[in-house]
Amino acid sequence: MQTYDVVVIGAGPGGYIAAIRCAQLGLSVACVEGWLNEKGKPALGGTCLNVGCIPSKALLDSSHHYEFLKHDALEHGITASGVSIDVNRMIARKNKVVSILTQGIASLFRKHKIDWLQGYGRLLKDKQVEIKPVTEDASDTQVIVGKHIIIATGSVPATIPVAAVDNERIFDSTGALEFNQAPRTLGIIGAGVIGLELGSVWRRLGSEVVILEAMDEFLPTVDRQLANEAMKTLQKQGLDIRLGTKVTATGSNNQQVMVHYEDRDGKHQINVDKLIVAIGRQPNTEHLGLNDTGLELDNDGFIIVDEQCRTSIEEIYAIGDVVRGPMLAHKASEEGVSVAEQIAGLGGHMDYGIIPWVIYTWPEIAWVGKSEQELKDAGIEYRTGSFPFIANGRARAMADTRGMVKCLADTQTDRILGVHIIGPNASELIAEAVIAMAFDSSAEDMARTIHAHPTLAEAMHEAALAVDDRPIHI
Ligand code: FAD
Ligand code: NAD
Repeated sequence: MQTYDVVVIGAGPGGYIAAIRCAQLGLSVACVEGWLNEKGKPALGGTCLNVGCIPSKALLDSSHHYEFLKHDALEHGITASGVSIDVNRMIARKNKVVSILTQGIASLFRKHKIDWLQGYGRLLKDKQVEIKPVTEDASDTQVIVGKHIIIATGSVPATIPVAAVDNERIFDSTGALEFNQAPRTLGIIGAGVIGLELGSVWRRLGSEVVILEAMDEFLPTVDRQLANEAMKTLQKQGLDIRLGTKVTATGSNNQQVMVHYEDRDGKHQINVDKLIVAIGRQPNTEHLGLNDTGLELDNDGFIIVDEQCRTSIEEIYAIGDVVRGPMLAHKASEEGVSVAEQIAGLGGHMDYGIIPWVIYTWPEIAWVGKSEQELKDAGIEYRTGSFPFIANGRARAMADTRGMVKCLADTQTDRILGVHIIGPNASELIAEAVIAMAFDSSAEDMARTIHAHPTLAEAMHEAALAVDDRPIHI
């Protein structure tokens, strides 16, 4: 039986990064991965690269360009006539981006001499892993041993019985990346990150989009001021977001999906050409066969781990979406690095307090640290500095002035406690705030840091100045 220093199960952004970091540290590594792409070929990269972060952002970028040409170019003096969208070509580009990136991981594995074992891994006793091939031409089931095991099996879309996914009329997020034309009418269950991002893609391409959200509050984990601003802007763009709804049944009349739902005003029905179910994701332990291993799961099916991602069994770790914490690719990756370094006898560092979030609508929404309501609930005294993009020179030059930056700092120490952005390129701007918080910067530190002119980042600078009531441009 072949023995490795580390066997990683799952090659999403948690597993593949863990495998590479282990190899960099001189450990022998096998990575077991069962993913088959749309052509039935084994692929690395997990949800994120194949059907998550990357393909959704490819479609968001394509649809953003289309919307710009259709509606916003004129402001720049550009007349674009005969603008049309070839959805199949857009999807083909998205698939190419995915293919290039997933093949890139395969070549990184070769470079680092990581054995990619294609198949589903099942955990046996004594850190043995049985690998069951997923393609017909593959060799037989094999068993390997890991001195250490890293479980990184990710998550899958959550489902509800009242809207069973068939990927013909009712789709999960994976199916919703593959439409061959923009549906005339699109329903989405769930106004979370996926609902808003994919809703934005198809709305920009011409769909009438209705989003049915169970909660009364929109984006409850987002700072209220930003969430309210986002709600107004997205509604104005045409996303029909209905809060406090309960979908009770769906049916089909051969042409359309009939969605029955209730809200405080009573019972309603909408008919849509396609329906996306985007109500969250659940941890994926389906193929792991954990029953006989003694690994503990919590009530929601997540593998229980401590702060260092150690499971209830020594030398078995779990990272990423299959454990507690936000389901984000960069969180999974950093846990992978942390665990690899622990196995190699180094520290293994992970700061859960400064994981950035981004919602890739336009304007983008990004934040790190605490929101105002969290600080109030915790009884922490803070000062607020805000700056609107409308007063930022670069945003004006771009003709993209919606939104603002808000910086929250401790009243006593001036330490930055949270930064919240809604605006153009918020996904890039937030990195400055993460670095600042990683080094325990004060708002004054950020305010005294020279920012290039003219840049959107100057809005960060001004928000930090505003904490001390001395913004220059408002
Ligand atoms: P995954 O990426 O899910 O990878 C797990 C891998 O394990 C899979 O390849 C699976 O095949 C494999 N596997 C499972 N069981 C076994 C087994 N028994 N044996 C072998 N292999 C197995 N996050 C962001 O940070 N930014 C974004 O912009 C973003 N956009 C998203 C958009 C969409 C539409 C979706 C669905 C998700 C998005 N996410 C985003 C979330 C992100 O994709 C996940 O947080 C991330 O992929 C989690 O990484 P992971 O390595 O834990 O798991
Ligand atoms: P989500 O948790 O962001 O949103 C799900 C929404 O569905 C919530 O608002 C919830 O209240 C609602 N909901 C749940 N059950 C419902 C029901 N029966 N009827 C109506 N509404 C219901 O989940 P998601 O949008 O499916 O995305 C899953 C995860 O993937 C995210 O939490 C995030 O971690 C990750 N993701 C991240 C990004 C990003 O970082 N930009 C993008 C996409 C996905």
